Amino acid sequence: MASDFSDGVTRCAKREDGGRADVGRAGGRHARGRCACDGRTGDGRVDSAADDALHEECGVFGVWAPDRDVARLAYFGLKALQHRGQESAGIAVGDGGTVMVRKDLGLIDQVFSDADLSTLTGQLAVGHVRYGTAGAKSWEAAQPHLSTINDVIIALAHNGTLVNTDELRRQLIDLGVPFLSNSDSEVATKLIGYFTQRTKHLREGIRKTMELIRGGYAMTLINEQALYAFRDPYGIRPLVLGKLPAAEDGDSQEPATEGWIVASETCALDIVGAEYVRDIRPGEILRISAEGLVSEQGVPAAAESAECIFEQVYFARPDSIMGGKSVYACRYDMGRRLALEAPVEADMVIGVPDSGLPPAEGYAHESGIPFGEGLIKNRYVARTFIQPTQELRAMGVRMKLNPLRDNIAGKRLVVIDDSIVRGTTMVQLVKMLRQAGAAEVHVRINSPEVVWPCFYGIDTDVQAQLISANKSVEEIRAYIGADSLAFLSVEGLLACVPQIGEPVCGGCAERGYCTACFTGVYPVAIPDSFGRDKFMPGYDPLNFTTPEPVSGHCVTEKERDRSWETAHGEA
Ligand code: SF4
Repeated sequence: MASDFSDGVTRCAKREDGGRADVGRAGGRHARGRCACDGRTGDGRVDSAADDALHEECGVFGVWAPDRDVARLAYFGLKALQHRGQESAGIAVGDGGTVMVRKDLGLIDQVFSDADLSTLTGQLAVGHVRYGTAGAKSWEAAQPHLSTINDVIIALAHNGTLVNTDELRRQLIDLGVPFLSNSDSEVATKLIGYFTQRTKHLREGIRKTMELIRGGYAMTLINEQALYAFRDPYGIRPLVLGKLPAAEDGDSQEPATEGWIVASETCALDIVGAEYVRDIRPGEILRISAEGLVSEQGVPAAAESAECIFEQVYFARPDSIMGGKSVYACRYDMGRRLALEAPVEADMVIGVPDSGLPPAEGYAHESGIPFGEGLIKNRYVARTFIQPTQELRAMGVRMKLNPLRDNIAGKRLVVIDDSIVRGTTMVQLVKMLRQAGAAEVHVRINSPEVVWPCFYGIDTDVQAQLISANKSVEEIRAYIGADSLAFLSVEGLLACVPQIGEPVCGGCAERGYCTACFTGVYPVAIPDSFGRDKFMPGYDPLNFTTPEPVSGHCVTEKERDRSWETAHGEA
């Protein structure tokens, strides 16, 4: 039977009862809006300067480790991924007969007490941290999402955005499947639950769902016994596999069996002592259980990967490894390249904490201009809330960053930041540095101009709000009040990141990355119904094909396909 924990936040559901178990508590219940997972609206960020940036998506974590405290492993994994989302956090645990979920609004530390973690016992778990927006603080949109359709119980954590869920949601509702939120992630959860219930095989439910959904997704999922991880055919959002080693010396204090971890970034493997094994491949489904680890190509991989290159620019932690190269090294190289592309005479190079620091070091190294600290970040201002007025937004910037007057007074500065989106933060930064006595302020950005909105899990403004879609570089320079301004070229950025997968076009420019927000070359087509109003008149995205339509009855038309189970001997 389904049962609640005393605070009403956590629900558990046992497979035997066939009942629903996915509802929450009162706080924020009626808030509406979409987080970056949902891909529509919102604002806010924690890292770097303030709200003038592409906004973070989410972080996912999964663990299969029968001898260990999987809830605490998930807790620490999510702590390492907290930079990817701060609005809500959640962990679901499977113990062989039950799936339990606890989730709530807030940082991971605010959501989970030691006592909470002690109640989440089992052999496997998934966890999620969600990007925060002003209008999307709803418990219902927090993850993991739980789906209980008859005797099928699953919990899913999703990073990314699905672009074609409106019609799929309508079809599921017509079939009597209930929804608690307007989240695309919940549509995926309910689709998987629906197909699994029909076919009696979770792998098939996942595969059929992957055939239908479009967009960027990295998902981890559990039922009572098995952990699953799967990724969209382009591999837009990151997902890595790690192994928890078994005790080597038979010490009874240590787990005797190895365990497995899946996570958005390798920094989440490091914190729990797991070794990186490999990336989950585009289109792959991984199943981890007592029977071992099994891989299936759930849907065909795209001819070439399209990993989000903004992970290396800004989103990922610098100590994470992506494509075999540390994010720190990528950012350092971006700074070096920027110094070659946009040199300037100056006395000191400073970076905007945190993501602007490695490229500032690289710029200093390449240019020979000394690197120095010029901006101190107040690490205890947890976030720049989305303020209703520009004046209050500006206060948010000042609360987070303070200039080091002694270091910068009278100096010609090169200031490195990861991106300029609306330009509002940079206006305040340049002003602060001049008020602190800087003789000159030369702004250098270690990414190209953000001209196009993102549809794959990153929350960008409508195109009309992107300053580079509206002004020339010289006009932006004048607007922010800098002495000079330059952006890294697309070619320069791509030269600093490792090749992903095998190049299919003999030296093609993308090297396996999505660069759509710089170039307008969108790897996955966007339906007319999904956010095309984000584009300004006269802007025609490149490579924007007509999306494959979802048929009127695609959910019910899917026939049972046992080919995978036959191939793998699964009953
Ligand atoms: S459009 Fe930009 S932010 Fe979005 S997935 Fe592509 S590279 Fe990343």
